[in-house]
Amino acid sequence: VPVLAVVGRPNVGKSTLVNRILGRREAVVQDIPGVTRDRVSYDAEWNGRAFTVVDTGGWDPDARGLAERIKAQAEIAVGLADAVLFVVDASIGITDADEAVVRVLRKSGKPVVLTANKVDDERAEIEAYGLWNLGLGEPHVVSALHGRGSGDLLDAVLEVLPKAPEAGEKAIGGPRRIAIVGRPNVGKSSLLNKLAGEERSVVDNVAGTTVDPVDEIVDLDGDQWRFIDTAGIRKRVKEASGHEYYAWLRTSTAIERAEVCVLVLDGSQSVAEQDLRILQEVREAGKALVIAFNKWDLVDAERRYFLDREIERDLVQVQWAPRINITAKTGWHIDRLVPALRRSIEGWETRVTTGALNAFLGRIVAEHPHPVRSGKQPRILFGSQVQTAPPTFKLFTTGKLDAGYERFVERRLREEFGFVGTPIEIKVQPRE
Ligand code: GDP
Repeated sequence: VPVLAVVGRPNVGKSTLVNRILGRREAVVQDIPGVTRDRVSYDAEWNGRAFTVVDTGGWDPDARGLAERIKAQAEIAVGLADAVLFVVDASIGITDADEAVVRVLRKSGKPVVLTANKVDDERAEIEAYGLWNLGLGEPHVVSALHGRGSGDLLDAVLEVLPKAPEAGEKAIGGPRRIAIVGRPNVGKSSLLNKLAGEERSVVDNVAGTTVDPVDEIVDLDGDQWRFIDTAGIRKRVKEASGHEYYAWLRTSTAIERAEVCVLVLDGSQSVAEQDLRILQEVREAGKALVIAFNKWDLVDAERRYFLDREIERDLVQVQWAPRINITAKTGWHIDRLVPALRRSIEGWETRVTTGALNAFLGRIVAEHPHPVRSGKQPRILFGSQVQTAPPTFKLFTTGKLDAGYERFVERRLREEFGFVGTPIEIKVQPRE
């Protein structure tokens, strides 16, 4: 799905505009200085086309000046997005911070949709046309608050976004997209360096951009693989200095763009809150997953014992993910990564025929009927797999299913059909 990044100074109305784009299906929090937001990407749709909106407006309490912050936002946005929605406040005009963004955007060569917000009357509209001077093309005048102009704006956005493949269809051809994710210092860049080796010859330079190459294509085991946002993995010096929000923005966007994620954990340390947060993001984004326990050279028998307990306790939600133990520093066992990636992708793209699925559903329902709830016993009537990548099932039922029963169905689906390395989504449709 193509990615649209929304960039702009605080208070220009980014969040209101993003809410407009999403049709208010999800509430986006306002810019509040000092507050770091978790959620940065949202699913959007306009005229039947799906895209992802990344709101870069979150605040990093550690960050220094405003101009620096917004420039960093813009750099990340142009690195990761297919197109940028640049929002300026027409009632104020262009500020120095805006100018810095304009330079980044112009240099990038990425399509930009320039948006002049807070154009609430005709006079403001005439003034907004002065923004042609920025060299970013036509200024689209909107009033996010009143919804004015937002339809035209979305049309303009669709025009510059690349077409996504049909829903449920994978982008055929082209290397598989992998995101290496994990908290700092677990060994992500060591792993990437080992995988890419010396012959890091094929660097994917996005045509016409002067920003760092973001993805890298590497030949491994007879196939090409595309490593997403290697600039983030290789941590540019500027970002290494505690800009936690930007790190999260990068991680979250990389997950969004990937087909399969490698979560790198430090095997010598306990599973941390941040690891679980990344896992949650991978599951919610519906991506295939491989878990790599790195620094295995530091894992002794005692640590191993505790690690096994932690896996049972903290990683129970992702029991289905292949796990490999590696030492990125020496390259030990990193050849196990590609087979694990292949298994996960295979699970992610598995399609079960409607016949096989319903034979199976009939069997499990007979073996283990839904418990009776206030005199009623919901039954599964029929099911079908409506999507792959990730496998998504629709179950038509006579009533709502208990969460526990849904988990039972998921567990049995996995026992029956595999689905290694992939989250599964089950949508229940009760008959009215
Ligand atoms: P990143 O922040 O996740 O990219 O982590 P780095 O790749 O920069 O690694 C952080 C530190 O861990 C560096 O000092 C590495 O040399 C070290 N390191 C990485 N992999 C291993 C490993 O497998 N074993 C050991 N002992 N150290 C490692």
